[in-house]
Amino acid sequence: MSKNIQKTEGIVTKHIPIGEADRIVTLISPSIGKIRAVARGSRKPKSKMGGHLIPITRVKISVANTKTIDQITEVETIESFRKIKEDLYLLSKASYMTELAENFVQEHSESKQIFNLLLQCITLLQIAPDIEILVKFFEIKLMSQTGFKPEMIICSECGTKLVPGSYKFSFESGGLLCHQCAGKIHSFTEKLSTNSIKLIRFIQNENFEKIAKLNSTKNLLEEIERVISGYMRSILDKELKTKPFLDLIAKQTKNSITSKNTL
Ligand SMILES: [Zn+2]
Repeated sequence: MSKNIQKTEGIVTKHIPIGEADRIVTLISPSIGKIRAVARGSRKPKSKMGGHLIPITRVKISVANTKTIDQITEVETIESFRKIKEDLYLLSKASYMTELAENFVQEHSESKQIFNLLLQCITLLQIAPDIEILVKFFEIKLMSQTGFKPEMIICSECGTKLVPGSYKFSFESGGLLCHQCAGKIHSFTEKLSTNSIKLIRFIQNENFEKIAKLNSTKNLLEEIERVISGYMRSILDKELKTKPFLDLIAKQTKNSITSKNTL
C-alpha cells in the first residue's frame, strides 16, 4: 500500500457490506469530492470505525490511496445528526438530499459548494418549520451550482425577455418558454403559474432564512414539485446518465405524499 494518505471531512452517503467484516463506504467531501473507500473490519462488533460510518453522519477521515480501492484508516464523528436518525420522515429527506448530491459530485474533484449546501440543508432539517420547502430550496440551489439553473427570466429557446405571467417550462431546454415557442414545442413541458414562477425565482436568489418566512406556499409547492422533478429527471437521464434516478425521485414523491397523509 502506498503511504499517500488524505485527511478530509465528509458526509457519509451510504455503506454496503463486503466480505466477512468490511464495508464499502461512500462519502461526499469538500476537498476531494466523492470518496468510495473500504473500511476494513468495520462490521466487527469491536470495530472503532463502524459506529462513525453510518449514512447521514459528518465525519473527519483519513483515506489511504491504494492501487485498487482506497482504504479508510481513521474516522471520527463531527456531527451525528441524531434528531434526523430518530425520525423516519427526516431521515428519508436527508437520504434523498445526499443521494441527489452524490450524483453531481465526481471523485477526486473539489466539491466545496455542493458539500456546504448539503451540510447546510441537513443541519436545517432538524429545525426548519417547513421541510418540503427546504427540500425544494436544496434542489433548486443544487441545480444552480451544477450548471443547470432553471431559466426563469427569458425564454429558454429564443431569449425573449418574459413579462410577468404564466408560462410553460420545458424540461428539454431547462427553462420557461415564451408563448410563441410554447406553441411549437409540445412535449416535455409543464405549466407554471405566475406565483410559482415568482417563488422559484425567489428561491434562486435568496437564502433559506428569508424563504422560510414565506406564507402560503403549499399549493405552489405541488406545482413546483412537478416541474423541478421532471427537469431533474431529464438532467440526470440525459446529461449525467444516472439510471437509479427515476426510483429516487419516485421514492421522494411517495415520501412527500405519505408524510402529508400521516402528519
Ligand atoms: Zn421563445
